[in-house]
Order: sequence, then structure tokens, then C-alpha cells
Amino acid sequence: MAEIVLEGMGVSRGVAIGIVHRHDSDHVTVPEFCILPGQIEAEKARFSKAALEAGQQVASLQEKARTLDGSAAEELGYLLDAYQQMLGGSRLIRGVHRRIETEKINAEAAVQHEIDHIARGFEAMGDSYLAARVADIRDLGRRLIRTLTGKTYRPFQSLPRNAVILAEELTPADTALLDPGHVAAIATQWGGAESHTAIMARSLGLPAVLGLPAGLGGAQSGDGVVVDGAKGRVVINPTAETLALYRQARAKFLRERRALGRLRDLPAETRDGIRLTLQANIELPSEMDSVLAAGAEGIGLFRSEFLYMNRDDLPGEDEQYALMRQVVERLDGRPVTIRTLDVGGDKLAHSLGMIPGPNPALGLRAVRLSLARPELLQTQMAAILRVALHGPVRILLPMVATIDEVVAARNARDAAACALKAAGHTLPEPLPPLGVMIEIPGAALSADSLARHADFFSIGTNDLTQYTLAIDRADESVAHLYNPLHPAVLRLIQFAAEAANRARIPVGVCGEIAGDPRYAGLLLGLGIHDLSMSATNIPMVKKRLRGLDHAQARGFAFQVMNQSDPARISTLLEEFNRTV
Ligand code: PEP
Ligand code: MG
Repeated sequence: MAEIVLEGMGVSRGVAIGIVHRHDSDHVTVPEFCILPGQIEAEKARFSKAALEAGQQVASLQEKARTLDGSAAEELGYLLDAYQQMLGGSRLIRGVHRRIETEKINAEAAVQHEIDHIARGFEAMGDSYLAARVADIRDLGRRLIRTLTGKTYRPFQSLPRNAVILAEELTPADTALLDPGHVAAIATQWGGAESHTAIMARSLGLPAVLGLPAGLGGAQSGDGVVVDGAKGRVVINPTAETLALYRQARAKFLRERRALGRLRDLPAETRDGIRLTLQANIELPSEMDSVLAAGAEGIGLFRSEFLYMNRDDLPGEDEQYALMRQVVERLDGRPVTIRTLDVGGDKLAHSLGMIPGPNPALGLRAVRLSLARPELLQTQMAAILRVALHGPVRILLPMVATIDEVVAARNARDAAACALKAAGHTLPEPLPPLGVMIEIPGAALSADSLARHADFFSIGTNDLTQYTLAIDRADESVAHLYNPLHPAVLRLIQFAAEAANRARIPVGVCGEIAGDPRYAGLLLGLGIHDLSMSATNIPMVKKRLRGLDHAQARGFAFQVMNQSDPARISTLLEEFNRTV
């Protein structure tokens, strides 16, 4: 088979040599078997029950859809009405019953066959409206099959060793299910460098290439493959010569990583003695081994929303407390900053019954959702307050835009504390500090007022860049325009950092630039001394900082802040990193 080279965006370094595993996010494994004549009635009843349950799920979605505004509610309303009709004694239902009876097959297989049959019929009619409904019919079929099997969607089971996941798209929730012990790398067509899928890949230490050409070179499960996460290259069916080259590249990468590992216990201190704090961003407690191996000085960002993904129910207070406690205890006295639920945008959790609105990046998400559904915030606040007895903990609010949100969240924290005390819990005094993410341009511009209400700031440059430049961070087609070095973004970072320094509250950066050694000098020069990043990047950033001089970095930042052209700033940054 001929070697195929695909070029994309390298978003997580490293070289992997493995076997392709094609993953289609809408894939459901359908069990198929024959049944005995005596089992027909029971099988039909099992299907009727599943159809009823699916109908109830759709009804609750309809309920929520009614709370949306304008065209989204209308569009979604039509779709859900159509689902209800299909589920209510329709041709689909009758067709499945008939297949169970005549073909004597299990209900899942009957649903799959009937859906295929209806979809083919629609496609053959050559009507664009009906053709567009095929996706809806298939979606409904998947919903029914999942209800029948009683299984939450669990991809990536029984993967070959060294599997390289190749997909059109991997959602952040999918990525959270990957076991780095089995998976060697990921490569997809969709997704930007700052998408949460890319971030997860970096956290898991998996080489990753996104933004590959459509069709993924026709690669099939079982093909040999090489992924070069630094160069953004994927080679399908590599020749012996290519394999030999990449084996060398992989050995070199691993040697470098081992060498960086020796920095683990050294401080992140500049040549002129300025000490910085390097902490880790995590999504799940399972990342703690790599956090400790990297020598992180704490967790600067625990993205608690990942606790809500890949499940049908919501994690309760006790469950969240237990998971957070694992993290806090393993850090043995080092601080942990837990961010309250930040779902929305590319991070969806169907357990929350979320329906993406007309513009999910600007919709009911993050702290807005927590305040709109107070029971969610109450549960999280109670879990965090309880866990604060086991080690230093801070509470971080995502996507804050106004002071009111901080005040309301503080009230929620205090109310949760009162309720816990009334129930006999002991809580730390004072209560954990409450900080805000500075990641909306409006928040950065009102940083001076927010600083009077927040105990600390954490600057989220991923969203700050996205919202300042109106560039979707997860969209590979505009990834070349996504630029944290745009002077507008840098000015917002500087303004927020200065406001925090004036108010004498701590300020750090937890966006992806914190973990990129190229930005270390600039952030240091802007007065940022706390950085939080994917654990795997800590050694590289530490190495860079230990070679820097604070005074020089300040001079450099001053020079950069006088520029108005992003391209000139990039050039200056490259020069600085080459020469200093
Ligand atoms: C950010 O926006 O910079 C950030 C750290 O949060 P997240 O990447 O989870 O949106
Ligand atoms: Mg963010």
C-alpha cells in the first residue's frame, strides 16, 4: 500500500508510531442476534418501553427548548416535534415491531434495519429537505438503540495497543475517555489548537495533529501510521525508510523529555532570583500522576466540568467531594484552584440536558448557567468547601462578565457554608478565596472594579483571545488568525495584571500561552509570576524561565507593548527567544 502523507496542525508534541483506529463520533455498536418465536412478544414489549423512554427524553428536551429565544427555539422545536411523531405509533415503530416478528431478530437490530430502510428511501427521493432529515432519523435511531442497550456511549473500548485515533472530530468529552496507556496519539480533521480536545491531548501527553484534510487520506482501522505532533504530520502506511526516521525522532523526543525531567525539583527562578510559581491545569483526577511527575507546585486550574461529561446523571455533592479530595490529598499541602462548572462552547455535558442555543460560545454557559440553576452551584460550593478541610483550596468562577455575578457566587458560597455548618460540618476559617477568570474582554476592561470584589484573578487567554478577536478557538479554518500576540489581547492582559497588582490580589495566567515557553519572557515582563499549564509543559517552561533575566524581560515587554502590528510583535518575540 502506498505511503500517504497528511499535513495538519501540530497541537501536542511527540512522535507516535501505531495502528489506525477510525472513530466516528456517531457510531454505536449494534448487537444483532436471532430470537426464538416465544421471545417475540417480550422483545416487542422491550422495544415499546424503550420508545416510551426515548419519548420522555425528547419531551424533556422540548420543555427546555421552550425556554430558548427566537429562531433556535423554533428550529429545535420542529426537530423535536418530528422526533415525537416518529416515536408515536409511526411507520418507524410499526416497522420495528414487524421486523421483530417476521425476521425474529432482537430489537436493536430491528431498529437499525428499519432506520437504514427509511433513510435509504428518503435519500432516493432526491428532495433536499428530506435528504437533510436523514441525519435526524439516524440520530433518533441511535437514541433508541442506546436506550435499548441501556449503555451510555462508551467509545474506545478494546482498542489495539498503540492505537492512533483518527476521526473527523473528537469532542473534549470523547478525549476525556482516552486511556494514554492504550492510545498513542490522536489525529482529526476538525478542531483548533486551543480547542479543549487539543488541551486534553496535551494534558494526557498524547501527540496530536488536528485540521487534517477531509477524508483523512482514506485511512482505515488497522493501517500502520505515524503521527508527528510537532510538525503536524500524519503518515499512513509508512514505508520502512519513513519508519526508521520516525523511530529516531521518537527516541530523540523521549531523550529530551527525560533530560527535562531532571528539572523537576529545581525552582522556577530567573537568573536574577525572581521566583515564579508553576502549577498544573487538570481536567480529571486521573491526571495526578503526571502532575506530580512534572513537579507542579499545585493545581492552578481544575476544570470541574469534566466531572459532568460521559454520564447520564449529575455528579452529586458527595461524589464531587470524593474526587476533589483525591486531588487535594495527593498534593499534600500544595494549593488547588477548583473552577466551578464551565460547560458550553465546545464543552457539552448531556447530563445537564444542555441544548446548544443559536450561538453556544455566547450562550447560557459557565457561571451564567451556574447562577441560572442555583442547585448546580450549591452542590459544587458545598463539595469544594468540604474539601477545603483537607488542604488549601481556592474557588474560581469561569466567564465572569459583571460584578453582580461575583457577588451572587459569593452569596452562594456563604449560603452553602451556613447550610453545611447547620448540618454539623466543620469548615475552614476563613472560607476559601473566591477568584474570577479574566477571559471576557469586558471583564478585563473592568478589572479594576472586579478586583474590589474578587480575591484573585486567573487570566484565561484562550477565551480572551477568542472573544477579543472574534475567532472561534475550536475552528481549524480560522486557526491561522487566532493570535494571543495581537496587541489588543496583550493590552487586556496587561490592564488586568496591573489592576490586580494595584488591588494587591494575586494574578496568574492559566490559558495555553502559560505552557508555551516562547511566551514565558513576555508574561514575566508583564508582571505575571503565577503560571498554570498542562503538566507536561511545566519542565519546558521552567527551563526557559531559569535562563531568563527579569530586568531584561521587563525591557522586552515594554518594547512589545509599544507595538501595534501583530506580525512585528511575533518577530520581536522570535528574536528575543533566539538571543536571550
Ligand atoms: C481559558 O479560556 O484560557 C481557560 C483557561 O479556560 P478554558 O480553556 O477551560 O476555557
Ligand atoms: Mg475559558
